[in-house]
Amino acid sequence: MVRKIAILGSTGSIGRNALKVIDALGGDYKVTVLTAHNNVELLAEQVRKFKPQIAVVTNPEKVNAFKSLLGDCETEILVGNKALSLAVSSEDVDIVIAAIVGAAGLEAILAAAKAGKILAIANKEPLVIAGSLLTKIAKQTGAKIIPVDSEHSAVFQAMQAGDAKEVNRIILTASGGPFRGATAEQIKNATIEQALAHPTWNMGKKITIDSATMMNKALEIIEAKWLFDVPVEKIEVLVHPESIVHSMVEFVDGSVIAQMSAPDMCLPIQYALTFPKRVKGITKHLRLEEIGKLTFEKPDMKVFKALKIGYEVAKTGGTAAAVFNAANEAAVKEFLEGNIKFVNIVEIIEYCLNKHKVKTNATLEDLISADNWARIEVKECLNKVM
Ligand code: NAD
Ligand code: MG
Repeated sequence: MVRKIAILGSTGSIGRNALKVIDALGGDYKVTVLTAHNNVELLAEQVRKFKPQIAVVTNPEKVNAFKSLLGDCETEILVGNKALSLAVSSEDVDIVIAAIVGAAGLEAILAAAKAGKILAIANKEPLVIAGSLLTKIAKQTGAKIIPVDSEHSAVFQAMQAGDAKEVNRIILTASGGPFRGATAEQIKNATIEQALAHPTWNMGKKITIDSATMMNKALEIIEAKWLFDVPVEKIEVLVHPESIVHSMVEFVDGSVIAQMSAPDMCLPIQYALTFPKRVKGITKHLRLEEIGKLTFEKPDMKVFKALKIGYEVAKTGGTAAAVFNAANEAAVKEFLEGNIKFVNIVEIIEYCLNKHKVKTNATLEDLISADNWARIEVKECLNKVM
């Protein structure tokens, strides 16, 4: 049976890799929905090649350019963020690859869960903001959530070796990013270029900055908490600069199951599509003798304060994670536009969290309003300083 796939954010780093994987998987997998925000040149190219039923341009300002680039075509064109929810709920979709960056993907992910689709989630921010709600909806509708984030895919794969009740610890690995081993003083004024120079992964700009602050790992702790329904006390982080062990699960008997592969997102994307089967893919196979040595170290939470804050936010719950995430998204944007220093990113997040009055048992409206509040706070706090 042909599996019909929607890729939300098909022009991004994950989206482009997903298309490579689907192309290589062949006729059993068909792309039916593609979406992009700004890069309509690439979206038009993708639509010409994959001939989906629907293409969504989420930025309304770009739709005319898209239409003229595309010319005569049978693909239906939809516009705006709301159209994502409509597109993923279509009967022509079995699997949704969520690869939008940031909270912008939240509504569509919830819609896909409500429609009972298989959700292959790379877009971690919606899980961080609304993991409680999302997992509840998925339980009700039978929507299956399969992680694509490499660490969570590794944990998901390792979990197949035992029962969820037998899990003792989840050990998330982290590359350590470009500033591993640095002092707070050394990275305080890091440039955009230095922060974007990731040693092992080639990714979109936002997640690359998140790796430099280790905010990415902080978000991933919260992501793991929801995906695997484990208390945060059972989630540990180990820095592993080779990025070969993508994460590990320790079971009650002391066995540790690790998933290893070359650092290539095509593998977790493919596993999410073919699960529970494994098929030959395009990821280069490992030669451990060429790597020689794998190393692990404790992260330095004094230098990478985001990680420490992440643990606290994960324990607090409610609207805290929505503020944590939104303040980060807004601060990273300001950093990438050259408006703040590297050190300010985490300072701003802390400032917002300290000011926020956490609401427990948060509804979707509470979470969205906490997200909006944090973004306004970031702007206001910048106006005060500048
Ligand atoms: P990217 O910046 O390369 O691509 C983002 C995609 O989202 C693009 O297709 C863009 O058109 C779309 N987009 C951007 N803003 C949008 C908006 N406002 N509304 C709708 N669509 C919008 O990002 P990426 O590196 O591919 O990351 C995507 C997600 O996957 C992120 O949540 C990231 O944390 C996660 N992730 C990425 C990697 C990786 O290797 N790149 C690994 C693990 C997890
Ligand atoms: Mg990851």
